[in-house]
Amino acid sequence: GLRVANLVRRFGDRAVLDGLDLDIAPGEFVALLGRSGSGKSTLLRAIAGLDYDVTGTGELDVPDRVSVAFQDSRLLPWLRVLDNVVLGVGGSDAREHGRQALAEVGLEGRERAWPSELSGGEQQRVALARCLVRDPEVLLADEPFGSLDALTRIRMHGLLRELCARHRPAVLLVTHDVDEAVELADRVVVLEDGRIRLDVAVTLPAPRSHRDPGFQSYRDQL
Ligand code: ATP
Ligand code: MG
Repeated sequence: GLRVANLVRRFGDRAVLDGLDLDIAPGEFVALLGRSGSGKSTLLRAIAGLDYDVTGTGELDVPDRVSVAFQDSRLLPWLRVLDNVVLGVGGSDAREHGRQALAEVGLEGRERAWPSELSGGEQQRVALARCLVRDPEVLLADEPFGSLDALTRIRMHGLLRELCARHRPAVLLVTHDVDEAVELADRVVVLEDGRIRLDVAVTLPAPRSHRDPGFQSYRDQL
């Protein structure tokens, strides 16, 4: 799981994160909403350990195995798909695990393709495989489906849900889409003025249909 207590991040004299608290249990899926500029990406960078200027009396209790999926899939164009997936992963069976992860996201047989030969959705599945092969205890995803068409997005939702059910990481997923948040997450939190201002547990069983009256009641709370 993941525990963040009293996290502070200033840019100049503006505190973008201003004493933020957030706990995510192992296996729990949390969607993070918030206006553009509210600090969502800043929070993810801090949790991922990519930000050395986090200050305050913050406690950041994160296990070693954190994986991040960015909005752009950030594959290295000069490495083949499988090499992208296993980059930095040690051990003699890394490539075998990489192949398994690619199979899990439906990209069996594409190991030797170049990223530029894949569609946007396929590249994002590679990015997901790259996260999975690290068997993360915490999975951070910053608008991972932002650039996808609606159909591919729905497929990716199903895939992500299935993979999370199997691997049980603590998930923090940033999205601008309230429907996506309610559909995927166990909990929806809203970042505003540097803190988590709203924290709503979703108790409907997944998958959640937009036609479900319970779904609408969560939308209304947010
Ligand atoms: P979006 O939904 O548009 O992605 P966000 O919630 O992810 O927005 P952040 O990228 O976390 O927002 O940025 C939060 C605020 O911090 C913004 O006002 C931004 O200008 C500021 N900020 C982020 N990085 C820096 C930086 N390196 N230097 C100065 N200000 C920064
Ligand atoms: Mg952002």
